[in-house]
Amino acid sequence: MDNTIVISMSNRIYLDYNASVPLHPKSWEVMHTILKAGNHAYNASAIHSFGREGQKIIENARKEISNLIGADKNQIIFNSGATEGNNTILKYFSTQYPNDNILVSAIEHPSILEAQNTLPNIKIIPVNNNGLIIIEELERLLKENPISLVSIMAVNNESGIIQNVSEISKIAHDNNALYHCDATQAAGKIPINMKKLDIDFLTISSHKIGGPQGVGALIIGTCGQSPCLLFGGGQEKSLRAGTENIAGIAGFGAAARLALDNMEKYQKLAKLRDDFERRLEDISPEIIIHSQNAKRIANTSFFSLPDTNSQTLLIALDLENIAVSNGSACSSGRVKPSHVLEAMSKDKKLTSSALRISMGWATKEKDIEAFLDAWQKIYTRIGNKN
Ligand code: PMP
Repeated sequence: MDNTIVISMSNRIYLDYNASVPLHPKSWEVMHTILKAGNHAYNASAIHSFGREGQKIIENARKEISNLIGADKNQIIFNSGATEGNNTILKYFSTQYPNDNILVSAIEHPSILEAQNTLPNIKIIPVNNNGLIIIEELERLLKENPISLVSIMAVNNESGIIQNVSEISKIAHDNNALYHCDATQAAGKIPINMKKLDIDFLTISSHKIGGPQGVGALIIGTCGQSPCLLFGGGQEKSLRAGTENIAGIAGFGAAARLALDNMEKYQKLAKLRDDFERRLEDISPEIIIHSQNAKRIANTSFFSLPDTNSQTLLIALDLENIAVSNGSACSSGRVKPSHVLEAMSKDKKLTSSALRISMGWATKEKDIEAFLDAWQKIYTRIGNKN
């Protein structure tokens, strides 16, 4: 398959990788082989040879994913994605330890934060104006009440900010809490070693690393807990029932291997991003680039043009055939100020005007050029109206 054709077929430019990474051709190839051969109809739990073949495909993928995140193969529980992984953990701890609290950061993905609406014992850890969690607050909250679990993401999907995961896990453990890390935006982009970082639970998602959508994994460390959301047929060591999505899991495994092999190359996106930001500042000097001087992942730029409306900018860019996001990867279509920027204490003129570009394996310099040309045009138009 010629990927350049697929992605630039209609001259559209895709700069929204944090929402979903275009399926990598190698991941597609692996899935295609399986689907073509009809293996998708095999039930991996079956004892016959067809079932065993399916099981072998799943075990190969498990190995690739364990290599990517530094865990044992048998700790990986496949599921439908990061939303499921996050929900599984929070619901489990909330019911298992009803008298304890769960601490989550203010900039988590909605699949963590919305637990506040249904679970009684969620408490929020604030962040500073770069989006890093305030360590003293984490320590204070851990001492205030018994805490069963701390859940803090490794990388934020909007700003790309990288948290100090090893420090967080140490503090959680020193205070007798377990640590869950949503590594959906970190896996495949920066090295994540679950064992070295002493993480008890890790959430990842296939479509954020170039694999297919609707597949992910919850990785369970050696803490002795067995979180389970879906019970039934005993699949995935009875921790996640449901017939396995063999082709999807295989595509996830292929994407994990590619991400690991290309991790060093991936860091080169930072230069493209930094050049982009310099030129963005030249065109529009009042632009505010969020978390610019903090440690960020290479592919993400998050900025606000004060007193504009992100939805209007997004549509104007879309009319120029450029796809970006106005913040939360999964909130496209919802007109809401960024909760991440609100948590970073930014005022309304910045929270409502935020845009994010996020790049990845097929991004070219010319895509960034096209964005900047369009931006110049839109910026001039806005200026003329004022
Ligand atoms: N966590 C983070 C940090 C994310 O960015 C996302 C996707 N936007 C999710 C969780 C949910 O992932 P999925 O689409 O696999 O459910």
